[in-house]
Amino acid sequence: MTAIGIDLGTTNSCVAVYRNNRVEIIANDQGSRVTPSWISFTDSQKLVGEAAKEEASMNCENTLFQIKRLIGRKFNDPTVQEDMKLWGFRIVEVGDRPKLQVTYKDEVKTFFPEEISAMVLTELKEAAEAYMGEKITDAVITVPAYFNDAQRTATRDAGRIAGLNVLSMINEPTAAAIAYGLDNKSNEERTVLIFDLGGGTFDVTIATIEEQIFDVKATGGNTHLGGEDFDYRMVDHFVEEFGDKHGVDMSTNKRAVSRLRVACEAAKRKLSVSTSAKIQLDGLFMGLDFRSNISQAKFEAMNADLFDSTLTAVKTVLSDAKVNKNQIDDIVLVGGSTRIPKIRKLLQDFFEGKEICRKINPDEAVAYGAAALAKNISSGGSEVKERFQLLDVTPLSIGTDVGVSDMFVVIPRNTKIPTRMTQNFITSADNQTALSFKVYEGERPCIHDNHHLGTFVLRGITPAPRGVASVQSVFEIDRSGILIVTAYDPKSGSENKIKITNDEKLMAKDEIEKMIAAAEKFRIEDVEWKEKSAAKNELEDLVYKIKQIVQKDTTSVSPGDQEKILQKSQAAMDWVKAYKKIESQSIRQRTNELKDVLNRMHEISTD
Ligand code: AMP
Repeated sequence: MTAIGIDLGTTNSCVAVYRNNRVEIIANDQGSRVTPSWISFTDSQKLVGEAAKEEASMNCENTLFQIKRLIGRKFNDPTVQEDMKLWGFRIVEVGDRPKLQVTYKDEVKTFFPEEISAMVLTELKEAAEAYMGEKITDAVITVPAYFNDAQRTATRDAGRIAGLNVLSMINEPTAAAIAYGLDNKSNEERTVLIFDLGGGTFDVTIATIEEQIFDVKATGGNTHLGGEDFDYRMVDHFVEEFGDKHGVDMSTNKRAVSRLRVACEAAKRKLSVSTSAKIQLDGLFMGLDFRSNISQAKFEAMNADLFDSTLTAVKTVLSDAKVNKNQIDDIVLVGGSTRIPKIRKLLQDFFEGKEICRKINPDEAVAYGAAALAKNISSGGSEVKERFQLLDVTPLSIGTDVGVSDMFVVIPRNTKIPTRMTQNFITSADNQTALSFKVYEGERPCIHDNHHLGTFVLRGITPAPRGVASVQSVFEIDRSGILIVTAYDPKSGSENKIKITNDEKLMAKDEIEKMIAAAEKFRIEDVEWKEKSAAKNELEDLVYKIKQIVQKDTTSVSPGDQEKILQKSQAAMDWVKAYKKIESQSIRQRTNELKDVLNRMHEISTD
């Protein structure tokens, strides 16, 4: 069975397949090799990709994007609260989770971020099915290296809702390293720095590649930094300029801000190839037009701190990997935002003029690597000409609190997996017989700022004075990322453990099933909408044809028949326009009736 590789991006997504000993990037039904990760709901249909993006300025309340910034986060997460101020669509709190609220077909609907991501995944899956001519269920989906467990789990759930069996979730820069490695067939070990700056996330990874063994040394970055942050900086700048010019604050008007944001994104891209860019928006706010310019220098200055922060991450990763910058053989750029000249310059200066690898397509590398891994897994490695082995690291530190609120790290971030680490803990009270282990992941010193993975209690500890009884713990992560934490008291022999697998933390089966059913309902509705649209077009074409025939052929058809068929045509058109809920089958039936009348008229006139 064919397995595909999917790069589910914040801004754009891409799907690829490995066949005939090479990776093929699959174009969508518009012929484009990347699909915007946008969904738009209108009064009649759900749009995905480019069509959804085009709706943004007209229908910003119901056009959803950057959903990857929400996935796996709680509603009160500070980044969610900040992002909400920038988006034109509405987010509501359900439980402690964010839900997206839209009006679809005149009804208010809410969706979890996983459901919206699943709609993007479904689109890519369907593009792959059309391309391969077969049903596809198996996929490798990529995630930013710095995604925590909750974000990974939610992404896997999105895959399940889209009807995908997620074979593996691979870190985006690791996938790019595979793409790079498959393209560079040198047998010598090379140390590669993957710099991945996309629309919403930023990852840096250092890996060594030797004879198709991909050995990730360290990874780091920021799950909340990317091209969209640069767009927002430009939006803020122009909102202020608009205010200075006209003395009004346009920032409260979501539609105007949405239009300005689209224009800023285009200007930003222009600034990658030109020293200045124009913004022209007619009737932007209160009927006022807006015309302005922005220079490359200004754009760089307004984002200087964000651009610089990417280098800070590079330095941290170099230090974590214990690699000197002179030891980096190749710098591979991934993600649309690496086209920004200043980013390239900063990197080149930091690496003292080192050339940047240009062989890899920054938009497609991640999907490329994911497709190769998908084939590697699904065929047990036997069918991939360039068979490879992947050695990855754990991106976030794992630890526990044991009674205090400081994070006690047992497995530091960037530890090669599989790994097994032991740690002794002592009791904090006299005659303590139980010890609670709360397991967390994250880099923050205060445990409550990190992500809680699970809790278990070790009971039956041999009573002893405070600080005397010693409990031993073992933290193990296996090759597929499953974490097992065991605690035992050597004196009493008591033992307890917790197993934290991605699967256990996935949403409950019945919750997923509900979402799958909802997704299926939307899919059926989408198919029906397309059929209805085709049926309407056919009817419209026929009515147009009838008018032309009647106008041209005034002799053979009697005026009475002419009047009759024109009336019938008009009635059919009025009927379609008046009733939104007509099914495609009824429209086709009406079209066939008209065709019959037309044919009969022809038969009569040719008799
Ligand atoms: P990705 O997530 O890799 O598809 O990257 C998308 C981000 O790259 C968006 O924020 C785009 O605006 C940005 N981007 C794409 N092309 C360019 C370009 N030529 N210059 C600057 N940014 C770009």
